[in-house]
Amino acid sequence: MATIVMKFGGTSVADIERIRHAARHVKREVDAGHKVCVVVSAMSGKTNELVALTRDAAPVHDAREYDAVVASGEQVSAGLMSIVLQEMGVPARSFAGWQVPIETSDAHGSARITNIDPALLFDRMNAGLVCVVTGFQGVSPHKRITTLGRGGSDTSAVAVAAAVQADRCDIYTDVDGVYTTDPRIVSKARRIERISFEEMLEMASLGAKVLQTRSVELAMAKKVRLVVRSSFDDPDQVPPLGEQGDWQGPGTLVCDEDEIMEKQIVSGVTCAKSEAKITLRGVKDNPGVAAAVFGPLADAQIVVDMIVQNISDDGKSTDITFTIPDAEFDKAMTVLKEAGETSLEFDSISGSKGGAKISVIGVGMRSHAGVAASMFRALSDKGINIQLITTSEIKTSVLIEEEYAELAVRALHTYYGLDMEEA
Ligand code: ADP
Ligand code: ASP
Ligand code: MG
Repeated sequence: MATIVMKFGGTSVADIERIRHAARHVKREVDAGHKVCVVVSAMSGKTNELVALTRDAAPVHDAREYDAVVASGEQVSAGLMSIVLQEMGVPARSFAGWQVPIETSDAHGSARITNIDPALLFDRMNAGLVCVVTGFQGVSPHKRITTLGRGGSDTSAVAVAAAVQADRCDIYTDVDGVYTTDPRIVSKARRIERISFEEMLEMASLGAKVLQTRSVELAMAKKVRLVVRSSFDDPDQVPPLGEQGDWQGPGTLVCDEDEIMEKQIVSGVTCAKSEAKITLRGVKDNPGVAAAVFGPLADAQIVVDMIVQNISDDGKSTDITFTIPDAEFDKAMTVLKEAGETSLEFDSISGSKGGAKISVIGVGMRSHAGVAASMFRALSDKGINIQLITTSEIKTSVLIEEEYAELAVRALHTYYGLDMEEA
């Protein structure tokens, strides 16, 4: 008998029919004798709708009340899932974040889970109940409802899995695993059978929204066995998952690198749109200049991503270019212009929205030189201009114009031999 956490995303609980389908997956595991915690997202589109309502109510509003509103979608799904399970003869009970409790920081809108007391879940599972837990939400030290940031139900599921020491955390979604790139963009994308935590972490943080980045971080830290699989499969036809050594799907196993025999040079390609670029020219170059630029941005809670700095010929001034999300562009320009009047000296500032960051990721890059060079060649063959470059041990990212994003992803996907073979 195993303990399994089963997470269902928005499209998997989009209506009562889908919830019934998802519940049949749950019933299968219960009938096999397993103890089950289910974690649910809001019904597809619901969270967007709730976010829009808070904006309609007031464009700038209290983050605590934003959380009170947007967390409600998950409460609806958890209740409905429990009702449907009960109707199928599976004893079930719903739990909101505060009832478990899932304790979080008080950073409303992007709270971090700090602790989950598993006692109640253990007690109810031992009594033969399926515990249906709301994803995406928790409770702050001030006893307020918090939310974990968009896509946060994945993180709730992994955190619950770690707390109840689950044998597996199954993320049921609308695709049948993690693909070499977003299958909605590239029809030749291939399902990856096993992917290392590190590669998955890079893919998630560089644009593959199939898992929230924090959920992968947590799974890696807590050694949670994570499977991404389809909720649309016929619940009665799913082959049993293999054991540790012979795992063959269905879905994608996210695991330690040493469980993967064949290490690809490039395992995946990702795309993150809506990246804005800002350049400061003629910044007076003295110690502390980078802090003078990025300090005020950090104080304004603006997250900076790629950074490039060039020293001028005379060594007295420098040009600095960096990227931020499009949504932060106006705020960042204002912050820097204000800094220019006080603590920071520069000649000019310019910038534009609408960039796309394209990345290639693979643990094999550690032992292969020249991946970056081949990536630049593949893009230049398509006439795509590269504006910025960053690399790390297992990834290379470039910033290009957004209109070339799909072309670039397809070109790189083909170039690195990731395309699915024609049937
Ligand atoms: P859920 O509502 O189940 O949480 P999401 O919409 O958050 O589902 O995530 C699933 C989606 O992630 C897929 O429909 C797919 O379009 C997208 N996606 C992006 N990159 C990838 C990838 N590399 N592999 C699989 N899916 C991806
Ligand atoms: N419902 C939340 C969202 O849409 C959380 C999730 O689905 O993971 O972001
Ligand atoms: Mg999601």
